[in-house]
Amino acid sequence: MEKITQSDVLIIGAGISGCSTAYYLAKKGIQSTIIDPMGVGEEASGWALGDLNILTGQGLDGPLFEFAKNSLDMHRLLHEEFLSTLGIDTQLKFLDTSFIAMDELDIKDLEILANQFKKRKFNFKWMNSSELLNSEPEINPNVVGGIIAEGMGLLNPWSLTKAFMEDVEKNGGHFVKDKVNELIFDNEKIVAVKTTTKTISCKIIVFAMGPWAIKIQDWVKNKFLLPVRPVKGQIIRLETNSTPYSYVDWQDTYLVKKSDGLTWVGTTMEETGFDKAITEEAKKDIISRAAFLSPILKNAKQILQTACLRPVTDDWLPILDILPEIDNAYVITGGGRKGILLAPAMGSFMANMINDGKPLPENPYGLKRFTIN
Ligand SMILES: Cc1cc2nc3c(=O)[nH]c(=O)nc-3n(C[C@H](O)[C@H](O)[C@H](O)COP(=O)(O)OP(=O)(O)OC[C@H]3O[C@@H](n4cnc5c(N)ncnc54)[C@H](O)[C@@H]3O)c2cc1C
Repeated sequence: MEKITQSDVLIIGAGISGCSTAYYLAKKGIQSTIIDPMGVGEEASGWALGDLNILTGQGLDGPLFEFAKNSLDMHRLLHEEFLSTLGIDTQLKFLDTSFIAMDELDIKDLEILANQFKKRKFNFKWMNSSELLNSEPEINPNVVGGIIAEGMGLLNPWSLTKAFMEDVEKNGGHFVKDKVNELIFDNEKIVAVKTTTKTISCKIIVFAMGPWAIKIQDWVKNKFLLPVRPVKGQIIRLETNSTPYSYVDWQDTYLVKKSDGLTWVGTTMEETGFDKAITEEAKKDIISRAAFLSPILKNAKQILQTACLRPVTDDWLPILDILPEIDNAYVITGGGRKGILLAPAMGSFMANMINDGKPLPENPYGLKRFTIN
């Protein structure tokens, strides 16, 4: 497997974006090689929470909403498919979300959210303090009210990324553990890459490098803007005897019990470049917010603290495009806080574009939107 020196389609990055692209390409009979020095799903794609949240979040007030909804439907199909064809359980489940209000300001925010839910025809209802405490007995007893809404998905993003890759390999694709350090051009084409150990030639190249896609700007000598940046997020996994009924959300804090039996609490949004270190400061902050939301968590045993980097663009929309002025190169990145949710739709979008071999005339996820006029 490691001897590969040629591939029709070479995908740089074995996160969920690269693996889903390879999966949907394989469905069209196009085989690819995916290269990554870390392994499969070893950056954000494997360490994310794995919520599939079309209820809230940046970017959902435009075309991304329909895209995300479609992606959620694709997740249901993928879950069934991978269970039956590969025996891999992505652990997909759906649960209610309790949006908590601790004061009148929170209630005002939830009123705005309720209006969006009405417009999007989501099933939800307002709960008073005692109704909420009835369904979630371990939340802060000073809760003043909230909303309970249907439709939150949750899965194991690492299993899903592995399943994509396993399916790709089953259909003739390959994974190579190596790092791309340099591109080799012939006029307007990238004809090969230099990795740490060898040169691999290719006909088509797909950059699926998460936040590291910013590197493409250097590689192509700043011919165009590709504004993606890393935003670090930390999560703490706690051992508790409690079983929250729902996914609990308050301001920018969530807590949810996952299928590993642990309660995951998060998160942070840190603009600290490519630094992936876990910090004591984030731990204190997350635990104090989680313990305010659910006092029982104050003394819960901490099992694991993780940190990883979201690929974020200025408008929180993904980048899915052909690279300008280069005939055979594509980029998929910018999943932001929703890269797991969006992965099926993003991967399928890319596979279609690669198969067609030309940019879309109207592409909401194109690089043109970053052009300086
Ligand atoms: C704390 C946290 C929680 C999150 N929770 C959720 C969630 O609940 N739901 C959700 O939808 N999203 C969530 N996300 C976002 C989601 O994880 C990301 O948007 C998504 O994983 C990005 O996937 P990717 O494949 O684009 O990038 P990555 O997973 O970062 O993969 C990019 C890969 O490219 C490789 N690479 C980089 N440079 C090179 C090179 N030169 N050569 C070869 N390979 C290279 C890297 O090693 C890496 O493996 C979360 C993110 C964080 C940080």
